[in-house]
Amino acid sequence: MASDLAFACRCGAVSGTLRDVGPGQGDHVICHCTDCQDLTRHLGHADMLDAHGGSALYQSRCAKMRLDTGRDRLACLHMTDKPTLRWYASCCGMPLFNTYANGRIPYITTQLAACDPAKRDALTGPPLGHLFTQDGSGDTSALPKMSMGRLMRRFFPRMVKDMISGDRRRCALFDPATLEPVAPPRRLTAEERQALRSGGAIP
Ligand SMILES: [Zn+2]
Ligand SMILES: [Zn+2]
Repeated sequence: MASDLAFACRCGAVSGTLRDVGPGQGDHVICHCTDCQDLTRHLGHADMLDAHGGSALYQSRCAKMRLDTGRDRLACLHMTDKPTLRWYASCCGMPLFNTYANGRIPYITTQLAACDPAKRDALTGPPLGHLFTQDGSGDTSALPKMSMGRLMRRFFPRMVKDMISGDRRRCALFDPATLEPVAPPRRLTAEERQALRSGGAIP
């Protein structure tokens, strides 16, 4: 369909489609937080960040993502003790999605760097704003800011729809019965975090 947006990891083993993509269906934001930045460094894909360390993200309803290939390559990790779960392709390390730790709080945030470059800008619309600009690199003072509060107010109605409709149990990343992740999450150790913060690389 015209509103479908294809995504794939860098090597192509993991691929799928985001359905019903549009500015009214989800939120396009740029996140500059240290966890998003550290994630790309940890996985060896820091080149996907923009000049200010930003990650282009699209947050939408959890059942709108269809996984076509590579389910067995999906892996996930927690950067910190916070609940955000970071999904990536174990084949090439490409970051793909952010979700809550389990399917109880339903949303899926897709890395736009993994989406079809010919269609993503037209479908998602311009970014609503930039999150955590204080953590970005260089002079971020001119970037239009977006607060987490505003993002949460936009996310909340979609979350309620996912809960009421039962779509919460139709997310490809969580078991429909238990709502637990389909791949075992790993949590970075303090040493791994420290290495990222000091500019070192994890082999
Ligand atoms: Zn791959
Ligand atoms: Zn972030």
